Amino acid sequence: MRLILLGPPGAGKGTQAQRLVVKHGIVQLSTGDMLRAAVAAGTPVGLRAKSIMERGELVPDDVVVAIIADRIDQADAKRGFVLDGFPRTVPQAEALDRLLAQRGLKLDGVIELKVDEGILLKRIETRVADMTARGEKVRADDNPDVLKGRLAAYRAQTAPLAAYYASKGMLKAVDGMAPIDDVTAAIDRILSPAGTGKGKTKAKAKAKAKAKAKAKTKAATRTAGRRKAAKTKKPVKAKKPAKRASKVRAKPGRAETSTRRAAAAGAKGRTAGRTVKKSGQRKTATKRRLTKAR
Ligand code: AMP
Repeated sequence: MRLILLGPPGAGKGTQAQRLVVKHGIVQLSTGDMLRAAVAAGTPVGLRAKSIMERGELVPDDVVVAIIADRIDQADAKRGFVLDGFPRTVPQAEALDRLLAQRGLKLDGVIELKVDEGILLKRIETRVADMTARGEKVRADDNPDVLKGRLAAYRAQTAPLAAYYASKGMLKAVDGMAPIDDVTAAIDRILSPAGTGKGKTKAKAKAKAKAKAKAKTKAATRTAGRRKAAKTKKPVKAKKPAKRASKVRAKPGRAETSTRRAAAAGAKGRTAGRTVKKSGQRKTATKRRLTKAR
């Protein structure tokens, strides 16, 4: 994961960057920390940056870009990084784009911590007072006068970066005035798969694959069913001629009624009796004719 945290001095970039380091196993690349280390070590870069930093101004772009170019090539940055305090100008952002493109890398997002400058000044004054009370060393540029200069440099040179990344569709803003944990939670939401949009794409692809698999199973079941039916299919029987009764039923009226009666009589076992009776009647008629002749 490769991220940029944008925001004026004292917005809480350092605090949130450290939490991202722990959560995502990436490294924090703070140009301010690197420059302070260079100043402390008395390196040529440090000697060049020292007075600029003390005034609260920005160190030249080529100096910080060179520092970052070296740093992202180090082994611990391979898993990802969160840039804190860099880029600070549009030319630095463009240089970063080139550095990443040359290495085949991409940024995952730019998070801007939005803050109220008036409250920010009070926040830093309180932080300085607390550190002094604890006997801790206070940064030379963390005094109200220098801070005003740093805020002015931010407004003039760094704030345009929000538009730069917004135009690329990469900028996500967070309320930096919220309690620290709330800011962390807001950043987590942005970085969650759903927040980056990757989740939506993944979920869409998953749903599509599921629907495709379902359709495939359905088609396979249908084909198997047809094959089975074809194997077990009985030879088609010739159509039986329609029964007389049904023919009769086709003609409603007396004939139907008499057929029904006949059928009912048959069901009750009277048909045989009638036949007998009929033949009996015939016999009787013959007997009558014979008797007459006699
Ligand atoms: P920071 O700790 O990020 O507030 O930075 C402290 C000081 O270091 C700034 O006021 C600048 O003088 C210098 N600095 C840090 N990062 C940059 C940068 N990306 N470009 C120019 N100057 C920087």
